[in-house]
Amino acid sequence: MTISLANMSGGHFTLTAPAKINLFLHVTGRRDDGYHLLQSVVVFADAGDKVSFTRHDSLFIDIEGYFASHVGDLRENLVYRAAQALAQEYKHEATGKLVLEKNLPVASGMGGGSSDAATTLKGLVKLWGLPDERDRLYKLAATLGADVPACLVRRPVWMEGAGEKMMRMPDMPDMHLVLVTPPVATPTPEVFKRFAKRAAGRYSAPIQFIGRRKTMHEWIADLKLYRNDLTDAAIEVSPDIRTALAAIAATPNCHIARLSGSGATCFGIYESAAAAQAAVNKLRIEHPRWWVKAAGLFKE
Ligand code: ATP
Repeated sequence: MTISLANMSGGHFTLTAPAKINLFLHVTGRRDDGYHLLQSVVVFADAGDKVSFTRHDSLFIDIEGYFASHVGDLRENLVYRAAQALAQEYKHEATGKLVLEKNLPVASGMGGGSSDAATTLKGLVKLWGLPDERDRLYKLAATLGADVPACLVRRPVWMEGAGEKMMRMPDMPDMHLVLVTPPVATPTPEVFKRFAKRAAGRYSAPIQFIGRRKTMHEWIADLKLYRNDLTDAAIEVSPDIRTALAAIAATPNCHIARLSGSGATCFGIYESAAAAQAAVNKLRIEHPRWWVKAAGLFKE
């Protein structure tokens, strides 16, 4: 048996890059520069990609997993870009063997790339022994993408504005979610373009920050009052989203069936793990080409 010194010294470890889900998403306006103003509660699911980190004297990145072939050019990959950005910021040599296990469908609205980027920053701070400088890391994360700072938090957050205002939510009860991604491209810019045309300057009124809700039941009751304002625009881009929402809503004991982000991922909320698993089984039989997964909230 070989005992790796790297393992013992924290030189090899694996982190999860959890999927990001918008429990609701309201568009409350548009800035002069064209960016839409949003309000959303973002949660992270215990389904996600994985990134493993091993000490190595140069930077080596490999991608494996079911969706590995869907990720484009390595130099464009957010794992690579995050590693380079961190090395530059801290004047540290870019080193380490990083293996991304791509389990989340790509460009599906679950923020897989953003979560991979945040996880890479987190992992390399540890691997390189960098100081724990929260503000500096969050600023760097924001340069990699609007959702990357939230993906560093990895816990439920309230998001506002063009993604730059973020507040941690009080503890939430575990949720029983079913995530469903029909295999259709739903480019975010196209969805916002269609949304802008449809909305024609009419936006949702801003809501108050949602505070503590103790039970899942209270959460569901609240979330029923809200929606994802991008739904109709996303359906216009990818009509399969309508089919996915209807199929989720038709599963027994489904309380909410909703689009996440700009799609195409949709989700259902259930009050028990058994109900969520039954929904997964039903949806997989009815729609074998869809990516369907039961998930709870991500915990470190
Ligand atoms: P969001 O919800 O933040 O809009 P998304 O889930 O729709 O994100 P991602 O899976 O993050 O989309 O991919 C968006 C784009 O980023 C894709 O075109 C993909 O080629 C590119 N990309 C770069 N790095 C990654 C990565 N590590 N994983 C997935 N996509 C990546």
